[in-house]
Amino acid sequence: MELLRQERLDEYLERLKLKGIKSVLAGVCEDALKKQLSYTEFLDELLAIEVSERTKLEIGRRLKAAHFPYIKRLEQFDFKVCPSVEERRLRELLTFRFIDGCENVIFLGPPGVGKTHLAIGLGVAACEAGRRVYFTTFDDLIMSIAHCSDEGRLKQRLRRLLRPEVLIIDELGYTPLDKTAANIFFKVIAKRYECGSIILTSNRSYGEWGEIFPDVVLASAILDRLVHHSITFNIMGESYRLREKKKAGFLTGELKKV
Ligand code: ADP
Ligand code: MG
Repeated sequence: MELLRQERLDEYLERLKLKGIKSVLAGVCEDALKKQLSYTEFLDELLAIEVSERTKLEIGRRLKAAHFPYIKRLEQFDFKVCPSVEERRLRELLTFRFIDGCENVIFLGPPGVGKTHLAIGLGVAACEAGRRVYFTTFDDLIMSIAHCSDEGRLKQRLRRLLRPEVLIIDELGYTPLDKTAANIFFKVIAKRYECGSIILTSNRSYGEWGEIFPDVVLASAILDRLVHHSITFNIMGESYRLREKKKAGFLTGELKKV
């Protein structure tokens, strides 16, 4: 009889898609008997397990959909070695009001100072807070749109770029843009302007943007929309990778003596 009930319970939990509860039910029942939990306490415990399991799965799905090249966390960022990033100012972003207000976050600075780390870290935190994020490098973004051969596909692709609440565009400025690429970028920025956030990283300061775009008018039209509602972090300092290597003695020749 007990076995039959167990099987029936399993079937119910399966049909109701309560996988979290199903995996722990036997243990929680035994525990409840031992601790003499009330019905409410027992139900509370079971439902908490199901909710936590589902939250974990949802976060996993959102992280996968975000297409991060790798995971970096803000907790791994050492603010002490990078004093130009004010920790308090960055932590304020974790209220995600910038997403609700469709504001942009822009990380500027030389290579290796942690721009991608911060962009991914912020994106991962946003996913964990239930936000839809999509990561792309600048070059991949342009290529994926340039490949849309007809107008219909182009429109569809641009519409798709509106779906995430945060679009991360990494590495603007490493290569100069031709007119087509600049026009595509303008389309993306104009589409998302005031209706979705962008996190952008670039190794070029705003003053240098004229050099990467083929046309100054287009460069200022893009900059205008991008920075209108935005928070900029001008990161200064030495490359973290280089610093680590120096610390390990790679760049001073000390290792050669060994
Ligand atoms: P950028 O995008 O500015 O070129 P990255 O974000 O790729 O630089 O950083 C290069 C490497 O150094 C990464 O592995 C990153 O995690 C690490 N890094 C950079 N700055 C810091 C920091 N302040 N604390 C911890 N790791 C850092
Ligand atoms: Mg980078």
